[in-house]
Amino acid sequence: MRLESVSQNCSVERIYSALSSVFGFSEFRPHQEEIVTAILGGRDVFAVMPTGGGKSLCYQLPAYLLDGVCVVVSPLISLMKDQVDAACANGLSAGTLNSTISADERREIGLALRQNRLDLLYISPERFNSDYFIERLKTLKISFFAIDEAHCISEWGHDFRPDYLSLSRIMSEFPDVPVTAFTATATQRVADDIIVRLGLRRPHLTRASFNRPNLFYRVWSKQRLDDQILSYVKSHAGESGIIYRSSRKKVEATAALLQSCGISARHYHAGMTDIDRRNAQEAFSRDECSIIVATIAFGMGIDKSNVRFVVHADLPKNIEGYYQETGRAGRDGELADCLLFFGRGDIVQQLRFINDIEDQNARNIAKEQLWQMVSLAENPSCRRVALLKYFGEIFPESGCGGCDICVNGDERIDATIAAQKALSLIYRTRESFGAVHLSDVLVGANTDKIRQFGHDKLPTYGVGKDQPKNYWRAVINELIAQKIVKVDDLSRPVPKLTEEAWFIIRGKKTFSMLQPSIYEDRKIKSNQFAGNNILAAAVAPFSEPLFAKLKAVRMEIARAMNVPPYIVFSDKTLHEIARYFPRDAGELKLIHGVGQHKYDSYGQRFLEVINEFCNQNPQEAETWRQRNGAATKTPKQMPTLQAASYIETYNMILQGKTINEIAEERKLAKGTIVGHLEKLGELGMEFSAEQFFVPERLEQIKELFKQNGGENMMLKPVVEASNGNVDYEEARIARIFLKKS
Ligand code: ADP
Ligand code: ZN
Repeated sequence: MRLESVSQNCSVERIYSALSSVFGFSEFRPHQEEIVTAILGGRDVFAVMPTGGGKSLCYQLPAYLLDGVCVVVSPLISLMKDQVDAACANGLSAGTLNSTISADERREIGLALRQNRLDLLYISPERFNSDYFIERLKTLKISFFAIDEAHCISEWGHDFRPDYLSLSRIMSEFPDVPVTAFTATATQRVADDIIVRLGLRRPHLTRASFNRPNLFYRVWSKQRLDDQILSYVKSHAGESGIIYRSSRKKVEATAALLQSCGISARHYHAGMTDIDRRNAQEAFSRDECSIIVATIAFGMGIDKSNVRFVVHADLPKNIEGYYQETGRAGRDGELADCLLFFGRGDIVQQLRFINDIEDQNARNIAKEQLWQMVSLAENPSCRRVALLKYFGEIFPESGCGGCDICVNGDERIDATIAAQKALSLIYRTRESFGAVHLSDVLVGANTDKIRQFGHDKLPTYGVGKDQPKNYWRAVINELIAQKIVKVDDLSRPVPKLTEEAWFIIRGKKTFSMLQPSIYEDRKIKSNQFAGNNILAAAVAPFSEPLFAKLKAVRMEIARAMNVPPYIVFSDKTLHEIARYFPRDAGELKLIHGVGQHKYDSYGQRFLEVINEFCNQNPQEAETWRQRNGAATKTPKQMPTLQAASYIETYNMILQGKTINEIAEERKLAKGTIVGHLEKLGELGMEFSAEQFFVPERLEQIKELFKQNGGENMMLKPVVEASNGNVDYEEARIARIFLKKS
């Protein structure tokens, strides 16, 4: 379906038809359509989209539709093969000219280029230093240039590559060819710099939101790190993940620890030889090892789409780095987990590095950035809001539903009295002690230091006995985070009273914090981790045994084709198959990521596996098909992340648990759980009324709604009319089913 002329033929229908038949997607991600349209219209484009936002499709789709070849500039030769493989797997014709390919391949690509058969040609930036190469390019019909990782051209960026500077030549050498540039960099300064250096001509500009809705952010207090890492990794068995550490030594130690426990892990850092690094990266990319432990040298341009978790075992230097590194998780759009271990010891260590920076200005910047990172880790407020705020974005909703604070911390409680106790102790000890000692005094501990300073004689000694020490640490941390007390040195904070603090001491203002049980929860006992693994439950459910079978076939096919498994099909595709159980070609093609070419190449093979599975497990297959209405319609896409918490509730409902049990187990209010239920109902998730009501009771409430609730099914009149017989929660639950009927 090659098009001769842009203006005449690139109708919306053709674009959508290519989207579904070539890429197997039913809709565009945000901004993709406008970018594709701009390119088809012959405009320069500059697009800033977060990792996983789907930049490749923005140039691959027009490259497929337009006549001529799209020249893609990409920084890492080692990754070009994967990019080419991924494009070819969708049935595009793509190739690369670089030093790693054989003479035969080179000849073949040369021929394809001359015959105008190639959609995409991947090359490295150095090529533009060669006049010979440029002259050769000029003999071809080029549809447009696509510059990937465009921030590499800016010295302000975090990955500046001098080679990229040669790209400024494109504009003057190819004045008639549109140039498009893509990056995931977050800062405006770099963005402006890229446009100027490339000389883009009134480009179509896109700046997508940096929100990654499918990433779950959490911070755990760093206590017994090895145990913590081990149990976390065990609760994610079989999933791909990256563990970042701050030094080569730590990288090697953690990798060795995992290996000694039989977990397939490799390490990666800049001190290894090129070959060793390449091998480690390939093994990870091809799912031959599930975990890579690395310094931040690892990651740029990693296209692996099924990274299910990223762990920062040490404090990152700044938020930008943290964002880029966590961004490598969940590129396929399926839920992924980002865990940061935070301990104050890390601050001291980072400060030591920073103090070695010679230039004073640079040192100050580094310090400032570190404090921003620390406050992200330690503020008991939504991680996503804080992260996006750093990039100048305001997250519109309250409660993102996708971070530990929002999920656990629905309930803030009034803790004015606790704050008063802590603050008056700070006053009485002359604002000269840290949180550890203060907590000791509050719980009435018997330490040398307390005796030495006579703090056991203070009236506040032991006034907080009724709570564990951890609780008081949490109170003091919150006082710091809310800036009710100020500290000069965040690495060894000694809180001092502010005016705000005096308002609280005098009872003129109140103080609230997260529910203490939540802090209790954070007390690390390694055997608690399994229960904390929200991720496992949060992916919309699918048949695990079928998924395992699908993964095995995927691996077989990937080996035979010599490509990484995620190029065959993404995790998301396999999850959907294992959820909807497609039975024939038509149904399979409705699944996310199954385009015509992939279907032709190995669709049949997957159908065989599904059918075999169904024959062996007819019961299971039937249940799944019924639950999800089979794949006869396009699978309903839930907004994955807001759903994370709901789905955890949903799974518990499917297990037959009551609202009370769920509330108890999840440490959430009953009302919150009922809220989840309402949301699940709206989203069309199935659960049965019988679980909550005997039929007569539901009829009774239905009658109350009919008589009193009005068109909007109001609760208050119903509850009042029932004379204490029906409470709000029951009315809310009943309403979910009544709305459905
Ligand atoms: P980026 O280069 O922006 O980091 P990619 O181009 O690698 O992101 O795309 C990330 C993932 O999103 C890939 O697995 C890709 O198949 C998937 N993807 C891209 N566009 C869409 C879409 N419109 N619908 C669904 N998935 C998409
Ligand atoms: Zn949040």
